[in-house]
Amino acid sequence: MSYSRAHKCVILAQDFYLMIKDFKRTKLMAKIIAVANQKGGVGKTTTTVNLTASLALVQKRALLIDLDPQGNATMGCYIDKHELELSVLDVLLADADIKDCIQKVEKIGFDVLPANSDLTAAEVELMNIEGRELRLRNALAQVADDYDYIVIDCPPSLNMLTLNALVSANGVLIPMQCEYYALEGLSSLIETIDQVKSSVNPNLKIEGLVRTMYDPRNKLSTDVSAQLIEHFGDKVFNTVVPRNVRLAEAPSHGLPIINYDRSSKGALAYFSLAGEVVRRVRRETKAKRTAAA
Ligand code: ATP
Ligand code: MG
Repeated sequence: MSYSRAHKCVILAQDFYLMIKDFKRTKLMAKIIAVANQKGGVGKTTTTVNLTASLALVQKRALLIDLDPQGNATMGCYIDKHELELSVLDVLLADADIKDCIQKVEKIGFDVLPANSDLTAAEVELMNIEGRELRLRNALAQVADDYDYIVIDCPPSLNMLTLNALVSANGVLIPMQCEYYALEGLSSLIETIDQVKSSVNPNLKIEGLVRTMYDPRNKLSTDVSAQLIEHFGDKVFNTVVPRNVRLAEAPSHGLPIINYDRSSKGALAYFSLAGEVVRRVRRETKAKRTAAA
């Protein structure tokens, strides 16, 4: 059967429309990065806040989600965790509209879905809810087109909150302190990522490992760093975040490092990390488009 010219034109127009729709979808959907490591105090929150701030600085529309009852990321984003009317808890448990819970923080240039210690209750209460691991993902679907990047600060444990982050994300960024026990526990995080990937979230991958609080004069740091590169190759970001007192001071002013001391070594490191992340994501998007063509 031969198609008429008009019919062929219609088919071409339909193909073109679908292509544009696909192009828009890849372009508009936010890159969602979970910053996770069940080891405590390795720089998850510092990385989440300062990576998001650096992305915002290069005009990316960014949302930070605090998924840790400690509320440290919230406090580091010029929000008082003790004064929250709505928080991520209301999104997870009370079916609140996520748009009502997000705060626009003019001073830092990006949006925040805050948290405080009330979130501790979520862990237990989520257990009684069907589809508990999908709560955040379903809520994020409503705002994913409003942002270029969504960065999630996870608590220091592989609990239901971290699981919600991994189910929502398409990339995991793992901050690592290059010290003796650094690799311990990493295998259970990777196992969990693999499980989530093979069950509910095939798009999940390790975005990269970032070395934090790095001291190049310390032999142990350089040894562990070499070990990381041997195991994970180019998954290890080139950027190394040095130990820098300005990074530790900034949260006490409720500010990302870029707003506190833009010329510090810490600020430059996170700016460089954001550049690497953007370039990796650009490469991924290009590869996806090529594969879809
Ligand atoms: P938790 O597991 O408790 O959530 P975390 O992994 O989020 O901790 P952070 O809170 O980011 O870790 O960092 C732990 C401490 O180290 C904080 O006091 C922070 O200010 C400090 N810190 C983080 N990164 C650096 C750095 N590069 N230089 C100096 N201090 C840092
Ligand atoms: Mg933290």
